[in-house]
Amino acid sequence: MGCRRRAPAAELLRVIAVPSEAGHSLTPDPARRLPGRGAHLHPDPACLALAERRRAFGRALRIVGVLDTDGLAEHIRAVATTTDHQIGRGSQRAR
Ligand SMILES: [Zn+2]
Repeated sequence: MGCRRRAPAAELLRVIAVPSEAGHSLTPDPARRLPGRGAHLHPDPACLALAERRRAFGRALRIVGVLDTDGLAEHIRAVATTTDHQIGRGSQRAR
């Protein structure tokens, strides 16, 4: 979702939004069992950063307002696999 890469669902992390004091908290659902609308992304900090920057979660989860990604970011840091995402546009190389 974050990077728009196609990937098998098994590689992606399901994420749902849980209401919190400030708005909503993004919550990882590795077992894919929690009810509600889910979004999927690579368990990769770069993919999360892209999704945040593009506000992809709000769109995918149909949520307007504050989305707290701290819990999700922590989960992703813990499970991160490296998937050589390129942050930025296109595929220019840095050097
Ligand atoms: Zn991704």
